[in-house]
Amino acid sequence: MNLIFLGAPGAGKGTQAEVVSDTLSIPQISTGNILREAAKNGTEYGVKAKAAMDAGELVSDEIVIGILKERIAEDDCKKGFILDGFPRTVAQAEALDAMNVQIDKVIEISVADEKIKQRLGGRRVCQGCGASYHVEYKPSKVEGICDKCGDKTIIRKDDQPEVVLDRLKTYHEKTAPLKDYYAAQGKLVTVEGQEEVADTTKLTLAAVGVQ
Ligand code: AMP
Repeated sequence: MNLIFLGAPGAGKGTQAEVVSDTLSIPQISTGNILREAAKNGTEYGVKAKAAMDAGELVSDEIVIGILKERIAEDDCKKGFILDGFPRTVAQAEALDAMNVQIDKVIEISVADEKIKQRLGGRRVCQGCGASYHVEYKPSKVEGICDKCGDKTIIRKDDQPEVVLDRLKTYHEKTAPLKDYYAAQGKLVTVEGQEEVADTTKLTLAAVGVQ
């Protein structure tokens, strides 16, 4: 099964994509994580991407489409994959269609902006493996340490309040139009984000068709 997870930054799409990835044993492909890793390693595109990411803007379609094309050609994607954070523009969605990638469903995790502003302040990510936590909603077992790999969890630079506002604006301008794009293809399923992560997960699994 090939799935796309769509949602504003901080809506919880990564957390939900992770559960579905574990449940279906198919990889979760986060373009944000790939870009952060490239930025950390100082690769040519990583350096370019970092400036846009730190400002809450999107990285160019050209760079991101190139990354995705390479990633989904890998062996572990043969049985299916979950795209987490891609596409983020109509041009990226069109590029995916042009690659003849069949998408089964697009799961939108919907959360109001006000709630998102509140949530992102508490988000922590692992500096090693990129796993995501929240001090209140999804704490790691030991504070500041990743459950999965034992590395440190940190606050992302782009989770600072002023950058969050820019990211939300970018989302509404550039990414939200994808809802219409995929609704027109009959693939969009909207999941309303709940107060409890576990409740959102139940709805997400039902939307994907596994329970
Ligand atoms: P995320 O971890 O998905 O919130 O992504 C973090 C940042 O990486 C975004 O704010 C963008 O700057 C960049 N990014 C990730 N995925 C994409 C994409 N598909 N297109 C453009 N920029 C992206």
